[in-house]
Amino acid sequence: MFEELAKEDKLIYDLIIAEKERQMDGIELIPSENLVTKAVLEAMGSYPNNKYSEGYPGKRYYGGNEVIDKIENEAINRCKTLFGAEHVNVQPNSGSPANMAAYAALLSPGDKALGMKLTEGGHLTHGHKVNFSGKTYNFLQYGVDKETETLDYDAIAEIASKEKPKLILSGYTAYPRKIDFKKFRSICDEVGAYCMADIAHIAGLCAAGVHENPVSYFDVVTTTTHKTLRGPRSAIIMCKEEIAEKIDKAVFPGLQGGPHEHTIAAKAVAFKEANTPEFKNYAEQIVKNAKALGEALADLGYRLVSGGTDNHLLLVDTRVGGISGIDAEKALEKGGMYCNKNTIPFETGSPWDPSGIRIGTPVLTTRGMKEKEMNEVASFMDQALKAKDDDAKLAEIKVNVTKFCKQFPFYD
Ligand SMILES: *Cc1c(COP(=O)(O)O)cnc(C)c1O
Repeated sequence: MFEELAKEDKLIYDLIIAEKERQMDGIELIPSENLVTKAVLEAMGSYPNNKYSEGYPGKRYYGGNEVIDKIENEAINRCKTLFGAEHVNVQPNSGSPANMAAYAALLSPGDKALGMKLTEGGHLTHGHKVNFSGKTYNFLQYGVDKETETLDYDAIAEIASKEKPKLILSGYTAYPRKIDFKKFRSICDEVGAYCMADIAHIAGLCAAGVHENPVSYFDVVTTTTHKTLRGPRSAIIMCKEEIAEKIDKAVFPGLQGGPHEHTIAAKAVAFKEANTPEFKNYAEQIVKNAKALGEALADLGYRLVSGGTDNHLLLVDTRVGGISGIDAEKALEKGGMYCNKNTIPFETGSPWDPSGIRIGTPVLTTRGMKEKEMNEVASFMDQALKAKDDDAKLAEIKVNVTKFCKQFPFYD
């Protein structure tokens, strides 16, 4: 791969290869990341990139879309099969614009909606005041229960019945537990709200049946395609037939112009890959690994938000070890491990200086690691966190981390 690029633009080629090596040589713990297959990468860097195809299959604003229509229809049909969706829009360019389109389809500016607070696991696009969502709509926010650090459905139902939001949103960016989507559906039914889920993080688990899949009984479900679903950096919207036209109009012409058909081709490839027994095993292993990593960290004395995990991610309260989230992220990075600082429920710091880190197992599982290796990963993390002020020690840890990673090659 990349022979032409190496000849024409050595600097960018070298940087791309350096980034690949960084990915291969380190322990990637960021739960929103993954490694796609070469087949997905090839589809992404391919000829449909050159085509304008505003509109939808069969009704385009440009000629020459006969082949593109086949690609987009194939992506749509594969996605319908994978998630059991009535209608799918495969054009959103990423998770945030997918949410923007879903809101634009169902709400008017100023309408009330209800989503999870950013600091307790929601996404910026779920109503944060610095984001278009919080600026455009009247987003009310729910959080987690103080004792259990898990969703308190009675509290959510109470806000819903008092405030009567037009849309209620579930699905999170930093929530380690199962979501009871049926409860959300019944809360929405009681108050007559649209029932929306943003399954960006857990889409791969939902597709594999490892987490409850809300698609068949929710009004609208958005998701990125590049997290546990292990596809290209992009997104999709799945919805009921009744609102299909509104959703499609909101995406195009409402929000986007020409769809990225090369990425849509790559999404089709990823949907095919996800609809296999191997992917189901993969998704199961992600969860087993996350549980194993959580247990190993707990044994080393770390506090996990909510006490553990049911999915692919863990929130570690680093205050218990006397480290801020920011210092933990930095120490791990110097040791060749990548995570992100993250707020924890009832945060006393700020998103820039929070009290925890968010870690997860999708990438490590893609590389073939199992429960046994999670003990080693926890031990590397512990060593680095304890050596946070000792750069020489952290450099030594990084060398060992790289040796460990070399046992699990992915891209050659
Ligand atoms: C990642 C994520 C998004 C945003 O996706 P981008 O592709 O980064 O715009 C939206 N919602 C949730 C819940 C996410 O985790």
